[in-house]
Formats: sequence, C-alpha cells, structure tokens
Amino acid sequence: MYRIGIGQDAHYFEDGRKLYLGGEEFDVGYGLKGHSDGDALLHAITDAILGALAQTDIGTLFPDKSKENKNRNSVDFLNKALEIMYDMDYSIVNLDCNIIADKPNISTIRDRLLESLSKLLGISKSNISIKAKTKEGYNKEDSLEVLCIVLLQKMI
Ligand SMILES: [Zn+2]
Repeated sequence: MYRIGIGQDAHYFEDGRKLYLGGEEFDVGYGLKGHSDGDALLHAITDAILGALAQTDIGTLFPDKSKENKNRNSVDFLNKALEIMYDMDYSIVNLDCNIIADKPNISTIRDRLLESLSKLLGISKSNISIKAKTKEGYNKEDSLEVLCIVLLQKMI
C-alpha cells in the first residue's frame, strides 16, 4: 500500500544569519529568517511525510509560539515525522523537491544536500531528487521556497 504527501514552505532571507538547508550549515553571509533555524527544505520534507500519513502538520506538532522551538534544529522536526512514519510501518520510496529561489546556487551544493538527506532519511541518494528553479525577477530575491512530494510504502 502506498501513500503520497506534499509539503511546501517558504522563508524570507535575513543577512548575517547562517544558512541551514537540508540539515547542513552554509556560511554564505545570509540565512533564512524563522522561529527555528529556518531550514525550509527540512520543513517541507517533514510536512510531506506528515501529509502522506495524514498526521497533521509541522505547525501543529511544533507550534512556533512555543519557547522550546525557538532556534530549534529542524532535524528534530524531521525525526519526529520519521518516528511517526516508522510507528505506522511505512518507509520512504522516493522524494522529489523543488527549491525556488535566486540564491544560493543549488548546483554547487546539491551533492551536500543529497548526502545529508540520504543520511537523515536513511534512503539511497538515487531515491532523492533536488531540483532548482530561479524566480526570474518575480518577488525579487526576498525568499526561498520549497515544494516537496514524497511517496511512502507500507512495510510488510
Ligand atoms: Zn519553515
């Protein structure tokens, strides 16, 4: 039995912060604004997994008004979704992500992102896709958006 889920997230850029993406840290002079570490890629993946399982969403599990979620490592959010997934006896078949932003240049960091996601999700890099789309002028450079689709399979 299969279940499919979609996740979406967007964060504004903020200068002088570290950039967190896919569980990796990049020192590029800007980061993503947010209550947690702002890792939009992990947030979208977490929501896609929760969505596939019909188990609410990241904002319900980790309210952004809560103090303990401030500057929180987004790997914690992902791990909670994975825990729910394993409890329900599902595993990930594959994952397809679009990162929509004018920076950073995804082709220069794609290998690091794939390596990190492969470790965090416990699946082969060949089952993870990260595609980059630029905004080509609309909405300027003010935010980074992620769309993600995940397919889960019931473990027998
Ligand atoms: Zn987010």
